[in-house]
Amino acid sequence: MAQMPDPATPIMSVEPIDAARMHVADPDMVRDILGYVAERLLASEEPLDGLADRNRLAGVIEGLIGEDGRDFREVLDIYAEDLAPTVLSADSPRMFAFIPSAPTKAALLFDMVVSAASLQGISWFEAAGAVIAENQALRTLADIAEMPSSAGGVFVSGGSAGNLSALVVARDVRRHQRLAAGLPEIPLRVVVSDQAHSSISNTLNITMMRALVVDTTTTDGRLTGALVAEALAREADASDICAVVATAGTTNAGIIDDIAGIGSIARERGWWLHVDGAYGGAGMLAPDVRHRYAGIEQADSLVMDPHKWWFAPFDSAALLYRDPRQAAAVHTQDASYLDVIHDEPAGGPADINPSDLAHHLTRRARGLPLWFSLAVNGLAAYRDAVAHSLELARYAADRLRDHPDCEVIREPDLSIVLFRRRGWGLAEYEEWSRGLLESQRAFVTSSKWRDEVVGRLAFLHPATTTEMVDEVIAALD
Ligand SMILES: *Cc1c(COP(=O)(O)O)cnc(C)c1O
Repeated sequence: MAQMPDPATPIMSVEPIDAARMHVADPDMVRDILGYVAERLLASEEPLDGLADRNRLAGVIEGLIGEDGRDFREVLDIYAEDLAPTVLSADSPRMFAFIPSAPTKAALLFDMVVSAASLQGISWFEAAGAVIAENQALRTLADIAEMPSSAGGVFVSGGSAGNLSALVVARDVRRHQRLAAGLPEIPLRVVVSDQAHSSISNTLNITMMRALVVDTTTTDGRLTGALVAEALAREADASDICAVVATAGTTNAGIIDDIAGIGSIARERGWWLHVDGAYGGAGMLAPDVRHRYAGIEQADSLVMDPHKWWFAPFDSAALLYRDPRQAAAVHTQDASYLDVIHDEPAGGPADINPSDLAHHLTRRARGLPLWFSLAVNGLAAYRDAVAHSLELARYAADRLRDHPDCEVIREPDLSIVLFRRRGWGLAEYEEWSRGLLESQRAFVTSSKWRDEVVGRLAFLHPATTTEMVDEVIAALD
């Protein structure tokens, strides 16, 4: 017989506490925050910002977090009045530095839905509806790249995370092959261009691989199959090379590597072909440049950032694998509390979960804003938006050529223009940048090309006009 509780010791009870009040929405807060959001979304042009005095900030927020809470209006005002203006709007049509961002309104709004619903996209078991929608968006991208029907992947936080997760798979596939063949474990190498993104060298550092860096001076920055072959000819032993990275749109100059040429060497040698299209992948949407991506369909892994040229909000990168099972074999986390998400349904292998395909576990369903926007706007709108950036780059290159003191450094492949203003050094470019930002006409920065300080303009926002470009070029006089 079960023992009866002693009536003298009351059963412990947990009363609802007052702290639950923070889990009850304050209708005023809902209204004011949504009002703030609506104002921002409905503004005719995103402000450029990025000017306010950042030395004031520490004083402004000092003591804001304490034992007792504050009125939300006070905190929201501090955000809106003091903090937000110091943040450069990456989504301003006057943003021409780094890689701008230009999320569609549909994507921004749906990002709020993902937040408001705490939508996670970890596994089929927990989040089938989110996973299937994210996979639909990934399949759309894979189709544009003409990857095989086996391809699949996951949205990660950014291109850097995508490059890392992909190259970990490349490394481990080779490691396991070597182990299976009874070969000793050795440090592996990856062939990279001297123009590859900085996250690639970071990745090699983290994964304890080494780079075989190919100098692209003779091809004006483009890694080609011929250059890779020449570099190989100089190597006494290339058996430690497990992968090659091709870039589909370098971040500095928008250069698309010879993916087909590099890919055929990779196939011949049994290397993993990773294509970094974090910025430039979306250029495939434009029919007049699509041929430059020939060979991308052979990629073993491909990264494209929705938060760049696919017009989605931060932070979102699509990581695609030709064979996602290889990635799952490397990245799946094994823990008894997770068995339930990996269990095999009767009659078939377990579905691969998004969490199995990269270095992460818990993840936001960050692909849904892109999914919603692709469905609502349609691919044709994306094609037009990408074509507009390409046209702006050509327009800017033409205007720069017309300028008596400017020279275009290389014909833009995509939407980035590098140029030289004769007689200028770093100080003059900085002055140009400062003057444009102070007047809120544009945000531009200089860059380097072969050790020379040069001007750089990156186009991405569909609302950028030729007048905005003219203002930037006029400031070079
Ligand atoms: C931007 C970029 C990255 C890094 O992507 P994040 O999203 O910033 O992490 C990697 N490769 C290329 C080619 C890029 O343009």
